[in-house]
Amino acid sequence: MKICDYLKSGNFSLSYEFFPPKDVKGRKQLTETIEELIIYKPSFVSVTYGAGGTTRERTLNTVKEIKEKFNLTVMPHLTCVAHDREEILDILETYKGLGIENILALRGDRPKDNPKKGFCRYAVDLVRLIKETYGDTFCVGVACYPEGHQEAPSLEEDILHLKEKIDAGGQFAITQMFFRNEDFFRFKELLAKKGIDVPILIGVMPITNFKQIKKFAQLCGATIPLDLAKKLSEVQDKPEEVYKIGIEYAISQCEELLDYGVDGFHFYTLNRPDATKEVIEALRDKIFSLRKV
Ligand SMILES: Cc1cc2nc3c(=O)[nH]c(=O)nc-3n(C[C@H](O)[C@H](O)[C@H](O)COP(=O)(O)OP(=O)(O)OC[C@H]3O[C@@H](n4cnc5c(N)ncnc54)[C@H](O)[C@@H]3O)c2cc1C
Repeated sequence: MKICDYLKSGNFSLSYEFFPPKDVKGRKQLTETIEELIIYKPSFVSVTYGAGGTTRERTLNTVKEIKEKFNLTVMPHLTCVAHDREEILDILETYKGLGIENILALRGDRPKDNPKKGFCRYAVDLVRLIKETYGDTFCVGVACYPEGHQEAPSLEEDILHLKEKIDAGGQFAITQMFFRNEDFFRFKELLAKKGIDVPILIGVMPITNFKQIKKFAQLCGATIPLDLAKKLSEVQDKPEEVYKIGIEYAISQCEELLDYGVDGFHFYTLNRPDATKEVIEALRDKIFSLRKV
């Protein structure tokens, strides 16, 4: 199923993001996670891709396995940094052969140990390449940043580049994690001013570990609100307390987003089911009243 067709019919989207496991233990963990989360009938699941092609085989195998085993709509992420044109087309051809209909087109961040210059400078070049080569074979999603991407001189400029990705054929966007809904509301206003009206799926990252989230947030430029950071730091040596605060925060953040009227939730699961499950369960009635399938 093409995600853009599903979204076009006004359906609320529920999706999960996984990373490709490294070993047998990781594969077992991922299988168990999907088994737990599949009961909520995800619209699709996605599998990340190591920038520079570090997970090329693993991403492909994970996509294949999930599709075959669970019959879910699977969207591979594809980062173009450090890949030449032929490599990208080779990967896309393989996905086409597997019946994959959706791709998340990303630039990625160049790994420090891989100086290879890729065919694409920005994600927009990848979107163009996919659309020019494959037309509507793939529904193409792109990334967006409610607080602005770290490299962008301003949020406004970042949104102009998001518009380029949409104009080139991006059909929906998934947000980077964010913890202040006001950032998202302001982002939506700016998108409307620029005439960007594709569905925007909210990337939800329930906080389950303070050290880990501080690292992630720093890497991707997401702000953890001061009062939340303070609460978490006070209990940082008590994992259950951190988890409780993190889940409660995610539930109230998602509830406000549902009331505002968003197009869907894309859970960054980190290949674990519990946090995602708790947030969905707490908002089950609201979420499922918005879903037609
Ligand atoms: C939902 C989601 C999933 C992700 N999945 C992965 C993954 O699987 N693997 C991975 O490695 N990373 C992943 N990332 C991280 C992503 O690769 C990084 O954030 C990366 O730095 C930017 O990728 P992009 O596709 O947004 O790039 P782009 O859209 O190319 O933007 C990158 C920067 O360049 C600027 N820019 C764009 N076009 C131009 C232009 N023409 N001129 C000047 N500046 C320009 C933008 O404003 C921005 O600052 C994901 C991010 C999100 C939000």
